[in-house]
Amino acid sequence: MEVLYGSTRGKGGKVTASQAILQGLAPDGGLFVPDHIPALDRNIEEIAKMDYRQTAYEVMKLFLTDFTEAELKNCIDRAYDSKFDTEEIVPLAEAAGAYYLELFHGPTIAFKDMALSILPYLMTTSARKNNVKNKIVILTATSGDTGKAALAGFADVEGTGIIVFYPKNGVSPIQERQMVTQKGENVLVVGIHGNFDDAQSGVKKLFADRELAAEMEKNGYQFSSANSINIGRLVPQICYYVYAYGTLLGEGKIARGEVVNVVVPTGNFGNILAAFYAKKMGLPIGKLICASNENKVLFDFFRTGTYDRNREFVLTASPSMDILISSNLERLIYRIAGNDSGETAELMGALNGAGKYEITEEMKSALGDFYGNYATEAETEAEIRRLYEEWGYVIDTHTAVASAVYRKYREETGDRTRTMIASTASPYKFAGSVMKAMGGAYEGEGVFTPVDALNRVSGVEIPGAVEELRTAPVLHERQCEAGEMKDVVRGFLGLQ
Ligand SMILES: *Cc1c(COP(=O)(O)O)cnc(C)c1O
Repeated sequence: MEVLYGSTRGKGGKVTASQAILQGLAPDGGLFVPDHIPALDRNIEEIAKMDYRQTAYEVMKLFLTDFTEAELKNCIDRAYDSKFDTEEIVPLAEAAGAYYLELFHGPTIAFKDMALSILPYLMTTSARKNNVKNKIVILTATSGDTGKAALAGFADVEGTGIIVFYPKNGVSPIQERQMVTQKGENVLVVGIHGNFDDAQSGVKKLFADRELAAEMEKNGYQFSSANSINIGRLVPQICYYVYAYGTLLGEGKIARGEVVNVVVPTGNFGNILAAFYAKKMGLPIGKLICASNENKVLFDFFRTGTYDRNREFVLTASPSMDILISSNLERLIYRIAGNDSGETAELMGALNGAGKYEITEEMKSALGDFYGNYATEAETEAEIRRLYEEWGYVIDTHTAVASAVYRKYREETGDRTRTMIASTASPYKFAGSVMKAMGGAYEGEGVFTPVDALNRVSGVEIPGAVEELRTAPVLHERQCEAGEMKDVVRGFLGLQ
């Protein structure tokens, strides 16, 4: 059955999957949602025998119904290949009574690769299907992980270009090194003098600039977004939950139909929403455990029914979760409002204005699938150390937030359901914080000092993606003021 996509805020008609991917955000500012969630049409024993690519096809074909089998398989084959450093693509590690779903074996060693390695192919296929002749220019502001994953995904993909703005002094040394060494004829990386919000507002302004859009159109270009609200990022994230369940069943770790809980370290609410969609497709998932760091806006929301972004922004050791507006939550709000776009638009308007909103008791009672909690910085560090000392397993700071929340959940509820924890980054991406948590001392300031120290202490192999940064030449040294972003874009596209 065909799946069409409409806005959570109700205006505008339904569009096909490929049109939703090309547009990113709906024209009324809402997010595209499927008009129904399709049920898995393969039984789980069959899926247990499939590899990652086959499983991804079985899931994605149900959502991207206007893609042909050949188109979709081509996208999948080009995305999930040897740029992942393991044959399984997403291996599961067992430690401390849980299964850690390692989503960080892609080219930039964080889970964003799971979606951003396929999005470029979904995007160019969508352009072809809709007779878009323009070159698609991806414009992104990044606080670290998304920028590099998008660069790696779109580099040298025909028919696309990508421009990434990052705050010059606001990303980790490894993250900056990853971005400024990015190869590719069609990529531009620029450090702006300002913080992430300046970069983000600058990008939003460029997206809304009609004059620029017209000038680009005349020259055969159009903008698109690789942001996590694009359904072309959400749908690929459903696949690994289905794959992981199949793996556990295939290895005899769980029985057929056995319910498994899922814990997700959450920022923008994309990853956990994908797990929710997997559950709605019929995958036997029990609780969806939403783990926050000290920016615990979601914990408060699940507890009280009030979402309130008016609070101090805390800089933590899990920066990819330092977020006060979880964009993808809008899709869940829409659903618990009974697919009422008027109600959703009103709540999102309140968030935009007063910075907060309160859901009704009825909506609150529809949140039973979810459990929210958070971990402090000290609890996160203790978790890294405990896993290392007791199990010899090294986890990154984001995964540690999830692991610590899982511990709290078990203590609070006594629930002993088998559990998968989404492991979202390699410990080498945040080596300094991980070393500190493990109590390991190292000397020196160099970018690779904590990396080498972590390797010495833990014996875990340094990923190729980090090794190659040591000698990779710096290719991007461009910097600009936030006010100059438009000129930089025009220059790159040769619009002068
Ligand atoms: C982006 C990111 C997250 C948060 O994921 P959301 O889908 O935004 O909730 C968690 N951990 C890491 C390492 C990330 O890069």
